Amino acid sequence: MNGKTVMACIDAAHAALVAHTDEIALLDQQIGDGDHIFNLLRGMEALVALRAQIESAAFGPALDLGAMKILSTVGGSSGPLFFSLLNGMAKAAASNTMDVAGFAAIFAAGVDAVGQRGKTGRGSKTMMDVLIPVAQRFAEMAAAGASAAEVRDALPQIAEASMLATRDMLATKGRASFLGERSRGHIDPGARSSQLMIAASCARLGQTL
Ligand code: ADP
Ligand code: MG
Repeated sequence: MNGKTVMACIDAAHAALVAHTDEIALLDQQIGDGDHIFNLLRGMEALVALRAQIESAAFGPALDLGAMKILSTVGGSSGPLFFSLLNGMAKAAASNTMDVAGFAAIFAAGVDAVGQRGKTGRGSKTMMDVLIPVAQRFAEMAAAGASAAEVRDALPQIAEASMLATRDMLATKGRASFLGERSRGHIDPGARSSQLMIAASCARLGQTL
């Protein structure tokens, strides 16, 4: 894991978001204000423009560069939340090993930081409904001694099932909560974007590691 790995994941996440732009725009039009994917794509394009710096940095500093860029380019609620994810991971990177157990702990620290920033856990129909189950499965697999390949296969599956489960939830956080019961029946856009980025990163890591 180094800056090149971070950039490879950014490229994969970016491509997945580009491919699903219309779908995510529609989800945020249904229960939000429609800007989620455009906020994210702006951030991703800024990260791509930082390629040389990210690729030449070590793993933690590369995440930190990405976090700061996201904070300054992604608007809406999701800017500070994705900043917290990367910043939380960057802080944890220094004290963890670059193996399955270490990376599970690093990811969990990022997800904890999102929870503190957004003041929510599972069940309020947000990106946390994908991030938390993925972090938990990752930790369980790491504790059970799973290989990196097993983790890369399993996490996209739990991410997808968790994303789909947001459809029937009642939104109690963020803009979608203004809709009350009318928020049911639509997948949360942040859950969809998070799931796509997790799946794309796992697939990309499978090619390189
Ligand atoms: P905004 O709602 O301000 O327009 P975005 O459209 O960028 O922000 O992002 C919306 C997404 O942010 C939602 O789909 C949801 O997943 C996520 N979100 C909103 N509020 C929170 C929160 N408090 N904690 C975690 N995620 C949240
Ligand atoms: Mg929005």
